[in-house]
Amino acid sequence: MREHTFDIVIIGSGAGGGAAAKELAPLCREGARIAVLEWGPRLAEHEYTGRETEMAGRLYFESGGVFTRDRTMTLAFGRAYGGSTVVYTGTSLMIPERPVKRWGVPGLTWEDLRRRSLKYIRENNVHLLEEERLNDNNRLFQAACERLGFRVEQFPINVKGCKGAGLCNLGCPNAAKQGTHRVQLPAAEAQGVQVITNCKVQRIEGRGVLRAVVEERSFGLPSPWEPGEHLVRARVVIVAGGAVHSPALLLRSGLGRQLPALGRYFTAHPALILVGEHPRSITNYYGHPKSFYCDHFAERGFLLETCMYFPFVTAKNLIGFGEEHAQLMHRMDRLQMILVLALDEALPDNRVTLDRAGEPVVEYRFSEPVLEALLESMKVSARIFFAAGAQRVHAPAGEKFLIERHEQDHLDELITRRRLQPGRISIASAHLMGGCRMGASPADSVTDSWGQVHGVPWLYVADSSLFPNCAEINPYVTIMAFADRVAEAVRARWREV
Ligand SMILES: Cc1cc2nc3c(=O)[nH]c(=O)nc-3n(C[C@H](O)[C@H](O)[C@H](O)COP(=O)(O)OP(=O)(O)OC[C@H]3O[C@@H](n4cnc5c(N)ncnc54)[C@H](O)[C@@H]3O)c2cc1C
Ligand code: SF4
Repeated sequence: MREHTFDIVIIGSGAGGGAAAKELAPLCREGARIAVLEWGPRLAEHEYTGRETEMAGRLYFESGGVFTRDRTMTLAFGRAYGGSTVVYTGTSLMIPERPVKRWGVPGLTWEDLRRRSLKYIRENNVHLLEEERLNDNNRLFQAACERLGFRVEQFPINVKGCKGAGLCNLGCPNAAKQGTHRVQLPAAEAQGVQVITNCKVQRIEGRGVLRAVVEERSFGLPSPWEPGEHLVRARVVIVAGGAVHSPALLLRSGLGRQLPALGRYFTAHPALILVGEHPRSITNYYGHPKSFYCDHFAERGFLLETCMYFPFVTAKNLIGFGEEHAQLMHRMDRLQMILVLALDEALPDNRVTLDRAGEPVVEYRFSEPVLEALLESMKVSARIFFAAGAQRVHAPAGEKFLIERHEQDHLDELITRRRLQPGRISIASAHLMGGCRMGASPADSVTDSWGQVHGVPWLYVADSSLFPNCAEINPYVTIMAFADRVAEAVRARWREV
């Protein structure tokens, strides 16, 4: 077995790991040896083909469809140099003050997160897309929300030279999206941080000792390390494997005994899509897919966002089979799409556990408030489609496959709780949070407000698993702000541990 020694090792290179790597990189000038160990591949530029099944297989865990234990929800998250930032849409929001106050984590203030978030908003070229580049799918949503008196805002996004290919969730083939694979990781490498791809950390064995395995892949650039087993030693370990794999790694490493909250309080913004069919073709498939969101109903437990998915994902999300399903897919050029996200409360029984092989299993039950929010959000979305001029609407909890325009005054009878059966409709999540939540004590949290694992001075967490509760917005900017705090703590303490 090959052995390696570093001062600081970061596990995972996504929003959290990438930001931590860049913030710590200046320490290389002082002689610190820093490595990022990343399970996923680093694709060569020509390998970003934008082909749906090929990219899903290469850039996501289980092609983006990891099931929860009872198979009522699929979870999408990336495995790559850059983690999920390679496949995210790039909508870049500052967390509002309300959720941070509600979390009530001692030592964590909204002002601090805001200051750090602004740094990444600048660094990742976040801005509003020019009006002439917004497509019909987005414009129709905005106009309809305004007509109905719903608060609607344009999403700032983090692109440079966006060509409107609409393939953001397949890894941008135009290198336009500014994820950590484009910004933070190259900057960290330029200062001396080593990034080891195709490298899965299996366990943390005692103080700063990691067991890892480098996998061989038929695609991507070769890993800097040889395939096979590796033993890695570090003074400080920062876990940033995401909200499923960070808790799983710590559970596999035996930390569950001293940290009863480990894996628990997992939240996901459970989401589903609806489509409205217009009488004519609209621009939907081309152009940046996500330009507007409506947070008018946040206090009633849901957000609405524009979106446009690829044919496979769209077909999977429409409920029904056979001829009417096929016919609707044939009219894809007329479809307007809305993504609804429920703002789910962190509950101790929604959690990451391990199967017999030590791999993560996510247990998630939909609470009654979440189901109520999804039901309400579908009715509101149907109103938006009709206000935008759609002829008919497909809602996953619809009593009929298509609700016709002349039926729009009967939405309460046509979109029903009876039809909203988890397991029957397609619910997915791309905003995974919690599992190593920050907090005051080991009784109900895993780390302190600086990401240090309670009672383990050499071990930190720096990713989406830190959320104490639901973020209530698209989370990546806040995750980078968390990682920035963690890097500050590590910079101050790494020589002493
Ligand atoms: C399709 C999609 C669209 C999204 N759109 C947006 C958006 O528009 N705006 C927004 O704010 N958020 C968006 N998100 C969410 C956002 O991308 C994530 O919340 C964020 O990237 C999570 O950051 P993270 O550091 O926790 O994990 P990730 O970015 O997922 O990175 C974790 C990395 O750790 C690696 N890893 C895991 N375990 C190990 C191990 N044991 N050893 C080595 N490496 C390991 C993984 O391979 C992965 O690369 C989207 C997500 C998806 C999937
Ligand atoms: S819309 Fe822009 S960011 Fe998205 S894939 Fe196309 S070029 Fe890339």
